[in-house]
Amino acid sequence: MPCLISRALAVGLLALLVACATAPKVTKNTSKTFTTVVVDAGHGGKDNGAYRRYGGAEKIATLDVAQRLDRKLRESQLKTVMTRSSDVFISLDERVAIENSQKNAIFVSIHFNDSRVRGIHGFETYYHSGDSFDLANRIQGKLMTIPHSVNRGVHTANFRVLRLAYYPAVLVECGFLSNRAEGHQARDSEYRDMLADRIAEAIVEQRYGPGVYQGTGQVASESQPANTGSGTGSPPAAPRP
Ligand SMILES: [Zn+2]
Repeated sequence: MPCLISRALAVGLLALLVACATAPKVTKNTSKTFTTVVVDAGHGGKDNGAYRRYGGAEKIATLDVAQRLDRKLRESQLKTVMTRSSDVFISLDERVAIENSQKNAIFVSIHFNDSRVRGIHGFETYYHSGDSFDLANRIQGKLMTIPHSVNRGVHTANFRVLRLAYYPAVLVECGFLSNRAEGHQARDSEYRDMLADRIAEAIVEQRYGPGVYQGTGQVASESQPANTGSGTGSPPAAPRP
């Protein structure tokens, strides 16, 4: 019966749609081969994220760090796609769609943390698929080279933008806005540049190995481990703005 067939088709299609909406079919391990980095500035528009006296609105800090990261990655010859480049609201599903529509990518989401306990501070990096662990671990490790940084660890999480990703995907919590010191730092452009610099270094290292990244930040990277490659002073042939 055509009616039964079309109903069966409709049910099948619905099941497929639900399956598509809840889990990626296959995650692709592009952690060593990626050519594009999807840079995701958390929150935006009507969604402030955390909002604290010391750190201000999370959406402002995430956008600034993400834009700096974007620039540094492009200077390192990687293609980038930003999920937002202004103060606009983008749903989590739209972010996932942008992420998954790339050809050969990784996804890095920038956030700042919040806690009712003011004393809590430090960096955390989250991932979902096992393919994302290396990248998460590397980013966390580079953030730990920032002076006085506190390691709150690399953890798995079920965040939508991570869970639904086809590609290696991580979410970086760049410190607590609810903490006086880290909140103040989150408002400081030099500090934001340093955050972006360390994350960019981790991403470039993940793709091309150690010693390739040439920092282009405003801040002298005093605690950076000695460069095994071509020295620290001279940048490579990367175009400068
Ligand atoms: Zn957030």
